[in-house]
Amino acid sequence: MLVIGLTGGIGSGKTSAANIFSVLGAGVIDTDEIAHELTQPGGESIFAIQQVFGEKYITAEGALNRKEMRDLVFDDTDARRKLEAILHPLIRNEVSRRVELAQAPYLIVVVPLLLETGHYRGIVQRVLVVDCSEGVQISRATARSGLDEQAVRAIMAAQVSRDERLGQADDVIVNDADLSNLERQVQALHKKYMMLAQGS
Ligand code: ATP
Repeated sequence: MLVIGLTGGIGSGKTSAANIFSVLGAGVIDTDEIAHELTQPGGESIFAIQQVFGEKYITAEGALNRKEMRDLVFDDTDARRKLEAILHPLIRNEVSRRVELAQAPYLIVVVPLLLETGHYRGIVQRVLVVDCSEGVQISRATARSGLDEQAVRAIMAAQVSRDERLGQADDVIVNDADLSNLERQVQALHKKYMMLAQGS
């Protein structure tokens, strides 16, 4: 199975690109979506989060208390590492499970921190980077998430630099223009991946 790791900075357009791949027939595995499922009531991470962080971080319904946890990990690196130590292995296992079960011609695995963690080296065969200028990134991320510019910049600072990301890319989508431009680039890559998948 051909597995492409799709990554990019905050607000670069990863989800938008992945949605277009999905419409074209690629299988899409989204690690943010998996993280969300793992932290729902009864999710696989809840017991460990409760043990490590305490009741305060679990809602009455038994889900992760996202607001409390966001506030904690925002400026506490140690807490963020502990949370990641719980979530990342569970996410990775679920990705592997879904890759095994997949029926699509090829797979796109969306991993925001693909290059930061290195956890997916054994799973993905190619790296696809969605790139756009920092200005565009900030305006899209602030418009969408309600985070202010400073918060978006702080997240960007914790991610690998644009140059480093581009340096590790096998393929790049330049998402500085409108959505139809994005769609055209995804269509071209879809053709390429279909050919690669048939050859592999
Ligand atoms: P995050 O890292 O925050 O999860 P992301 O990389 O998945 O973000 P998207 O959610 O796809 O990025 O895009 C961020 C916002 O920008 C969304 O509101 C999306 O609709 C918009 N957007 C993405 N690409 C374009 C484009 N080419 N033209 C206009 N708007 C776009």
